[in-house]
Amino acid sequence: METKRPCLIDHYERRLNYLRISITDRCNLRCRYCMPSEGLEKLAHEDILTYEEILRLARIAVGLGVDKIRLTGGEPLVRKDFPHLLPELMSIPGLKDVSITTNGIYLKEHLENIRSAGVSRINISLDSLKRDRYRKITGFDGFERVREAIQLAQTLGFHPIKINMVVLKGINDDEVADFARLSTRYPFHVRFIEYMPSGLLLHNEPLHHVSNAVIRERLEAVEPLIQLPRKPTDGPTVRYRFEGAQGEIGFISPLTHHFCQVCNRLRLTAKGHLRPCLLSDEELDLRGPMRAGATDRDLEDIFVGAADHKPRAHHLNSKDSESLSGQMSAIGG
Ligand code: SAM
Ligand code: SF4
Repeated sequence: METKRPCLIDHYERRLNYLRISITDRCNLRCRYCMPSEGLEKLAHEDILTYEEILRLARIAVGLGVDKIRLTGGEPLVRKDFPHLLPELMSIPGLKDVSITTNGIYLKEHLENIRSAGVSRINISLDSLKRDRYRKITGFDGFERVREAIQLAQTLGFHPIKINMVVLKGINDDEVADFARLSTRYPFHVRFIEYMPSGLLLHNEPLHHVSNAVIRERLEAVEPLIQLPRKPTDGPTVRYRFEGAQGEIGFISPLTHHFCQVCNRLRLTAKGHLRPCLLSDEELDLRGPMRAGATDRDLEDIFVGAADHKPRAHHLNSKDSESLSGQMSAIGG
């Protein structure tokens, strides 16, 4: 008799249907909240999952009920032949939603391929609307490239186009109203992400942290925000919009607002480890067993093990300066 396939439900009744895959630890930017200017030690080429391995793990995850996959990095678009991964990923039966998180630098040249593979959802990280400041934050004079990519994404019918801003006190927090206003004029979903201080980046003292509650207050002073009803797909985002706006505004507050009770995610790191929680260092190795000949069933068990290890909640708060010890670029954010 056929045994019933396990499903990814954790000990706290959360159904884990969302997998974020970091397809590379490499990046062409050096965002000051994510990487030191000299870069981080890179994984050896052979330590990074191959496309075949990524696809195999994605199929297994979908077989276990994952229906949403986001490709991230490092910067996913620096991985060679990136567009070849998409059509195969899109053809996995049962996978309803594939999206990409990118810094936008190489996006323009990839957009048509991404769209023709059937992907319409894209998240673009952008932390300043000022060219010089963008360069200071990312270490690269790339603002115009990102702006053009966003414009083209709109022309090609991507929706939603999410613009993710990590807000840093004293660095870009004076631009939050300008970012929010983008959602009035354009159908963009502007997302304010609380900065998570990283133990790897000692220059990024917790002093740069600014809570989303403060940002919301500042926006309310500009114009009242209307809270939008929660959708099952919202995950950790709390959504608002300005009256009559084409787009919306979202707040992701990992530190000041525990969103763990609605967390439906697992993360697959660039080196093939499953990470049950972004803010805990525990990881389960998939690559080792896979390369040693594990069957799909064995790998399924590791996925189920990751669900079993998902903590009820993280224990960090905005006062922890050494809190995030993993490399965001290898985990995928
Ligand atoms: N390179 C791509 C990008 O920047 O969009 C994808 C990878 S990046 C690690 C994914 C997300 O993590 C980005 O939106 C980035 O802003 C966010 N991120 C990185 N370090 C962070 C930190 N210390 N605190 C909050 N968000 C962070
Ligand atoms: Fe690169 Fe993204 Fe990290 Fe910036 S946030 S350094 S673009 S991985």
